[in-house]
Amino acid sequence: MGQPPNSSAIWAIGAFGIGGWVRASRWWVPARQFVYGRSALGRPEVLAAADWAATYSGGTRVVPIQERLDSAAAIERLGDGVDIVVCAIDSPPNVELMVNEACFALDVPFVHGGLNYSTLVHWSVDPGRAPCRRCLELHRDDEQLTLPTVLRQDPFIATPPVNPATGPIVQLLCGLMSVEIVRYLTGIEPPVAAATYRMIELADGLATATAPWHHHPDCPLCAKVADRVPAEVAG
Ligand SMILES: [Zn+2]
Repeated sequence: MGQPPNSSAIWAIGAFGIGGWVRASRWWVPARQFVYGRSALGRPEVLAAADWAATYSGGTRVVPIQERLDSAAAIERLGDGVDIVVCAIDSPPNVELMVNEACFALDVPFVHGGLNYSTLVHWSVDPGRAPCRRCLELHRDDEQLTLPTVLRQDPFIATPPVNPATGPIVQLLCGLMSVEIVRYLTGIEPPVAAATYRMIELADGLATATAPWHHHPDCPLCAKVADRVPAEVAG
């Protein structure tokens, strides 16, 4: 699932020779992408993706779905039968939690990646086998309660966001996501981004950082599959 800024993920995923994927997006190919070429401008992005995959590899098939995904049920419906979900969308605001919930129902992992102004970030969730995105949200809620009121409010003056990223540097993120996907699909090594924010800060000399999160005892999703949760994770 993705929208134009992350359409370059298709290169990174396609290069591994994955046999097929369902690609959902409601967007059209914009001028600022560099993946599909000028002739694709204004086309539905999912159709451009399907055509690109067909020219790249006869063994890869893309099922294009042009629709807005606005519920866990919709994501679960599209994900029926898949081995993994890749999440590269940033709206609606709670989309990460919706994908998280859907992947528990599907019992498949998901890899998320995005650009937050100057920070490239990716992480993954292996439902029931590692702390999930809802666990992180619950920890954030707990943390909020410890903050003074003034820090819980929106800032009075919001500085305009500056996005210093270019298409090729976002490709770096997509490459990292694709390797995480291969870790899940092949088991060649354990995932490195499960329940762990992995960040590259473009505005700070490409500094890298990781920030793991932990299981939350009140997470209703993890509680439902407690038999899957390894003891070291459940603690
Ligand atoms: Zn959880």
